[in-house]
Amino acid sequence: MKRVIVIGAGAAGIFAALAAAEQGADVLLFEKNDIVGKKMGITGKGRCNLTNTCPMADFIARTPGHGKFLFSAYQAYTNEDLLNQVHAWGLATKEERGGRVFPQSDSAIEVRKLLYHRLQAAKVDLHLQEPVRAVHHAASGFTVQTGRGTYEAGACIITTGGVSYPVTGSSGDGYEFAKALGHTVTELRPSLIAFTASDAWVRDLAGLALRNVDVSLWKQGKKLASQFGEMLFTHTGVSGPVILMLSSAVAHKPKWTFPMQLRINLKPALTADALDARVQRDFQKYLRKQVDNALKELLPQHLIPVVLDQAGIAKETPVNQITRIQRQDLVTVLQALSLTLTGTRPIAEAIVTAGGVSVREINPKTMESKCVEGLYFAGEVMDIDAFTGGYNLQAAFSTGVVAGRAAAAEAKEE
Ligand SMILES: Cc1cc2nc3c(=O)[nH]c(=O)nc-3n(C[C@H](O)[C@H](O)[C@H](O)COP(=O)(O)OP(=O)(O)OC[C@H]3O[C@@H](n4cnc5c(N)ncnc54)[C@H](O)[C@@H]3O)c2cc1C
Repeated sequence: MKRVIVIGAGAAGIFAALAAAEQGADVLLFEKNDIVGKKMGITGKGRCNLTNTCPMADFIARTPGHGKFLFSAYQAYTNEDLLNQVHAWGLATKEERGGRVFPQSDSAIEVRKLLYHRLQAAKVDLHLQEPVRAVHHAASGFTVQTGRGTYEAGACIITTGGVSYPVTGSSGDGYEFAKALGHTVTELRPSLIAFTASDAWVRDLAGLALRNVDVSLWKQGKKLASQFGEMLFTHTGVSGPVILMLSSAVAHKPKWTFPMQLRINLKPALTADALDARVQRDFQKYLRKQVDNALKELLPQHLIPVVLDQAGIAKETPVNQITRIQRQDLVTVLQALSLTLTGTRPIAEAIVTAGGVSVREINPKTMESKCVEGLYFAGEVMDIDAFTGGYNLQAAFSTGVVAGRAAAAEAKEE
């Protein structure tokens, strides 16, 4: 019997184990937790955004961390293959905005449990609560050490994930195994992560969400990137979909160092002239009021003092005393509310880890190491990372399947 050892029962490890078992291999799957797919159980805010219905070329475009490396894996196991597979296993799915696919039940736990039952049905030898401590390679194959014993196999697949959300088990062990086996691990950086800000007013706005805003990142007067959509103020800075996207850009641009400036265009649908006309209409309506009262139709209440402060206008100023220059300053701030970003939240809070085992040392067609024959990698442990939208899980599933199939084919007869 061909024997394959898989280390880590997350998205990539489960699919690698199932694919290897399907090819007739005897599969041992080691997991440090007492359940499989612990991280999967919290994905998509508990709903598990499994994949996306967009063309596979778009998956690559939405994977800033070595998307092209995934080309062959995405040909071998597509989003359609995944959906056909989970549907055949009895999981109903639904498509939402932006092609995002979720289980019909909105339950990530259902996905996790389903995969556990598939592992049992495939007779994968599952070793829960058995963290792998070391992986050794010799001419005869691999020796894997855990606290309970030593196991041998012809092929070994490392699917230990990144270092984000270590509470789910992904604490970076795979990087140490990879390094010990002669691999390069590129710098680990947080991606899809909130930013911290130094401005005191940001903390006062914690919990406030802004929709349909255009948010841009600036450094020394130069615009670096921008995103349109929703953002959120937090106790330490800013978060929300547009911020996560910007953080992905930062993770891939080492030259974009903190501090950086964030500018929020609160009214991106209007030109400066149209916004000025709108402000004038509101001022006409509230001519006898204080200026802060005149802005309540334009802005969320808590944002008014911040905007007035940045425009250099005292909030008690009567509207009929506001000068044209002051009004223009107000319009400028409404389209470029500014705050100073000091960094990102810690990598442990990132949705995904950028960096990892260098993809230059991995064959993209099989996920086999170019340094050690019979050794494979799949999922987030590799230097790959994508945007939100189901792309990270699909990357883990596709690379897991490719590694599992190739490892089973290559594992030496014992
Ligand atoms: C909060 C959150 C929400 C997310 N939502 C989505 C989403 O909706 N859609 C999406 O596409 N992506 C999402 N992601 C990203 C996605 O979950 C990951 O990219 C994906 O889980 C990576 O899969 P993986 O199998 O490579 O690693 P993991 O899922 O992290 O699995 C690694 C496994 O290896 C085990 N392990 C580690 N070391 C050892 C060891 N020494 N011995 C034994 N076992 C070990 C761990 O316990 C773990 O179970 C989200 C991430 C987070 C943190």
